[in-house]
Amino acid sequence: MKQRAGIKKPLCALEVLYNNGKGIIYMNIVLLGLPGTGKGTQARALSAKLGLTHVSFGDIYWNEIGKKSILGHEVTDYLRAGKPVPDWLVLNTLKERFAAEKKGLVMDGFPRSTEQADDLETWLSSRSSRLTAAIALKISETEALKRAEGRRVCRGCGAIFNTVTMPPAKENICDLCGGPLQLREDDNPSAMRNRIMSHKDQTEPLIVYYRGSADFLEVDGAQPPQAVTDRILAFLGTLKGL
Ligand SMILES: [Zn+2]
Repeated sequence: MKQRAGIKKPLCALEVLYNNGKGIIYMNIVLLGLPGTGKGTQARALSAKLGLTHVSFGDIYWNEIGKKSILGHEVTDYLRAGKPVPDWLVLNTLKERFAAEKKGLVMDGFPRSTEQADDLETWLSSRSSRLTAAIALKISETEALKRAEGRRVCRGCGAIFNTVTMPPAKENICDLCGGPLQLREDDNPSAMRNRIMSHKDQTEPLIVYYRGSADFLEVDGAQPPQAVTDRILAFLGTLKGL
């Protein structure tokens, strides 16, 4: 496991900016947490606020499965069983999809292992870039399961709602496009339990991996989403060198 140096000024304009009043800074952020902690919601809020590109392998893979592409075919068995996609495949996807990306990235549920975390560091540094912060959203396993069961995805636009934490205005209808909301295939109860248990096994070592650095934050994910976003933004604003 590599030890990272303290926060320095961004190396180049590969990452995108967040203007904190003291000047422009560039960010790459990792969001960790069990399924149902609101990583997707926070990733979208941070993307909007900081001008970052949202990296969600879940969205990429489900989209590819929908298109019946070769990649979709490769990942389908893993996702349907709630099992992690192998490291090499995740890394290939990252390299292929985001090679030309000029903005900073907010990674939602990636890395999933310390090996992937090392790969991410190497890849970012090959782009003359680096990780700005790792943020872990904490909720109990019971709460994670309850939230995962409430999750609904729009078939029209892919927006995510939650009958527990973020219900749509009209039951089962997307607020954004009016499309029908449905359970995603990997949100069936046994796949959900598998995902929560495998995430727990994977997330703990990653928290240890990132905890040693000054740019790591643990947030209570049971708070309302806006409070979580505010806490994260406040933390990002305090990072040294920003
Ligand atoms: Zn929609």
